[in-house]
Amino acid sequence: MAGGNPFRLDGRVAIVTGANTGIGQAIALGLAEAGAKIVLVGRSSMDETRAKLAPTGTSVHEIRADLSTTAPLTGVVADAISWGGSLDILVNNAGIIRRADALDFTEADWDAVIDTNLKSAFFLSQAAGRHMVPRGSGKIINIASLLSFQGGVRIASYTASKSGLAGLTRLLACEWAGKGINVNAIAPGYFVTNNTEALRADSDRNAAILARIPAGHWGDPADLAGAAVFLASDAARYIHGTVLPVDGGWLAR
Ligand code: NAP
Repeated sequence: MAGGNPFRLDGRVAIVTGANTGIGQAIALGLAEAGAKIVLVGRSSMDETRAKLAPTGTSVHEIRADLSTTAPLTGVVADAISWGGSLDILVNNAGIIRRADALDFTEADWDAVIDTNLKSAFFLSQAAGRHMVPRGSGKIINIASLLSFQGGVRIASYTASKSGLAGLTRLLACEWAGKGINVNAIAPGYFVTNNTEALRADSDRNAAILARIPAGHWGDPADLAGAAVFLASDAARYIHGTVLPVDGGWLAR
């Protein structure tokens, strides 16, 4: 470990997918505040995120890519490396959710969620790994879910994708830990973002969720940044294949 504060990320190049809003935006800001250079990847304008990162003074690069297919993934990594000189951190955050009873769940809703949340996360990790493994260092952080541990209802493809992502986190850790790469995941509990708008709008579900969270309130995306900075840093160099819940105590209940 280099001298100095092992939690700092000065000069490291970090890709954050789905960084225009919500959890991805908060993680991008946390990594930037810790000194990383940030590559914002997504299909929407990153203007809001750029504005939030500006006070950190860090360098920011934007790559427009639709992660519902694997087509752009190797190009994303190549672009990030040609801009930043290397790729040190990959945060697979982009994700979607579709809600329907299992009896009615469509193949389209199955494929859309699996393709974005699981398939693209794997092949982007593969593209990053092809850069990180030969040089013997790198950090990959997957944004999993409580549905990596639990079943849930009405979100069949989401639960399958996030349970799959937890498995992939462990598989990649087993393959790459000995090559200097840390692969881990963060499992957010219930956070106030676009992803959970439908739940918060349903007063019964909202009350039931709140009643189970020991912390007594929904998470603020900013509450996830510390976990991401930690897992991206030298301080976490012996942590491999873990899925870290940041959930206000939900899983402890
Ligand atoms: P969000 O506000 O809906 O953000 C999702 C992000 O993914 C957005 O930036 C979105 O871009 C991006 N995205 C979706 N499909 C994409 C595609 N095809 N190509 C590129 N980008 C795409 O929700 P969030 O809560 O911040 O979600 C972030 C991650 O956290 C997801 O993986 C989600 O499953 C996970 N998570 C969230 C919670 C929670 O309570 N909120 C809990 C557990 C896990 P657009 O804005 O362009 O759609």
